[in-house]
Amino acid sequence: MLIDAHNHPNWHGFNAGKILRNMDEQGIDQMWLFSWEVPEDEYSPSYHAVLPPAGHGIPLEDVLAVGREAPDRFILGYMPHPKRPDAIDRLKAAVEIHGVRVASELKVRLPFDDPDALRLYEACGQMRLPITIHLDYPIDHGRGNYPRPNWWYGGSLDAFERAIVACPQTAFIGHAPGFWAHISGDDLYDKASYPDGPVLPGGRLSEIMRTYPNLYADLSAGSGLKALKRDRGFGRDFLIEFQDKLLFGRDYFDTSLMDFLLELALPEEAFAKITYQNAERLLSSYLSTP
Ligand SMILES: [Zn+2]
Repeated sequence: MLIDAHNHPNWHGFNAGKILRNMDEQGIDQMWLFSWEVPEDEYSPSYHAVLPPAGHGIPLEDVLAVGREAPDRFILGYMPHPKRPDAIDRLKAAVEIHGVRVASELKVRLPFDDPDALRLYEACGQMRLPITIHLDYPIDHGRGNYPRPNWWYGGSLDAFERAIVACPQTAFIGHAPGFWAHISGDDLYDKASYPDGPVLPGGRLSEIMRTYPNLYADLSAGSGLKALKRDRGFGRDFLIEFQDKLLFGRDYFDTSLMDFLLELALPEEAFAKITYQNAERLLSSYLSTP
């Protein structure tokens, strides 16, 4: 069994047929499929190169359309923008009418602990929907001020931690460059999206993963993989220590994360938890411990 717990429809041109072929090629049984609800003024135009260029973000409709092609293989995700006055009702309707099971992906230019966002997370906890979050710090790209000098999302790890504390009944899944940069105890997290160099002791990621039972992380995208590869020994230890809280996911369609996990030769039990058991448990029993 293998579950990809972070992916998107039409991302990089992968429509339903291409996604299913790709899953078959890589032995992926199930995929969590996420929307990205984002207003145009929070959306980097660079995404027009890798998503259908007519709109912006990834609408729920695209998740539903791909999901319908193989309902037993897709777990549907949807997260409304927290500032929509009707966000909670929209999410409830998505759960009741369409069978949405994950509140993801949350990638917006709003600090994670915005009061309206906290209300939405509370509702997610009541509906037993885990939330996958995307954190990017405001790191200037150096190409001028328009449409934005940088593309931060979610604010900071501090804002995320306040949300985790404020909503103990809600499961959060950390993701993206600003989250993974905290694997190391250095000060590079707000200076480079993909910092490299040795992992210094005292990284806040390990600290918060140990502290909060409602915090999980997915290993998807370049951010997860690059962080684990900064120091392979540390990366392997991290995977083993947090084997009950980490989810295999790609956020893309290649084999790079799986190749790396196989190279590390993890204990069988840890490998099984990370590659599918944690994802199944999070949906079936929510916050209960193994
Ligand atoms: Zn994503």
